[in-house]
Amino acid sequence: MRALLLAATASLLSPGWDTGADHRERCGRLAASVTIRTGAELTPGDELRGGRIVACVERPELATLLVAVESARAAGYVRPIVVHTELRWGRRSPLLVAYHRSTGTLLAGGATRALDETVWLHELAHKAMDGTRPAGALAARLVDAVEEGAADYFAAALSGRPSVGSLSGGERRDLVSPAAPGASEWAALAVPGAFSSHRFGAILAAQLLDAEPRPGELLRDLIQSLGDDEPWPAASSPRAVVDELVRRSPLRSRRALEAALLGWLPRELARP
Ligand SMILES: [Zn+2]
Repeated sequence: MRALLLAATASLLSPGWDTGADHRERCGRLAASVTIRTGAELTPGDELRGGRIVACVERPELATLLVAVESARAAGYVRPIVVHTELRWGRRSPLLVAYHRSTGTLLAGGATRALDETVWLHELAHKAMDGTRPAGALAARLVDAVEEGAADYFAAALSGRPSVGSLSGGERRDLVSPAAPGASEWAALAVPGAFSSHRFGAILAAQLLDAEPRPGELLRDLIQSLGDDEPWPAASSPRAVVDELVRRSPLRSRRALEAALLGWLPRELARP
């Protein structure tokens, strides 16, 4: 059974993914930017315990992670990152990857071989957007959706591909023509646990990609706005959230950012 599983995973590898000389060279170039740890455990209390550092060259299955880090560095996003691979999560291993905000690290399960670089780029963007968040639940959910949209936009703009997700048959988000939610779906914003920040974020990402397809000022300034560590004002209506995100952006991108955010919200929520 184990051999079968390994064979199935290996068949997902694209022939273009280099795991030889290029991988070794990237490991050398990125030695100061990427630390790989393996075997840590994520406790039910959300703490990371144990694990050990492993050599990058021994981890050819993380080749697409290194491609993503190199793209992010080339675009000027140079934060060093710790990646926990083969993370143990209770008795099971999470299948995909996630950004762990409290430790600022990337968490990955055992299926990393099947992931393309857009998945890693999305998570690296979360690290770059580690700013403060509003205290109100509705406002926090809305900012989460903006953050997911910004992470998808980051991944699409840097990879040059308008589609973000796993090659393994997992979720893949199309940023060219995502299905627009109806006003009743937006009502889920007011209900704890009912709102999909990824789905709503992908619709925003599509609009941002349309406004500026290449990585440029709009992307940089949106990421900076979400990485700002100033405390949030108490007002938390959807329009107040948009106004605050725009205020946090450098002047040059405010108009484009406001147009994208107000074009994304339904009219009832965009009213001041
Ligand atoms: Zn995300």
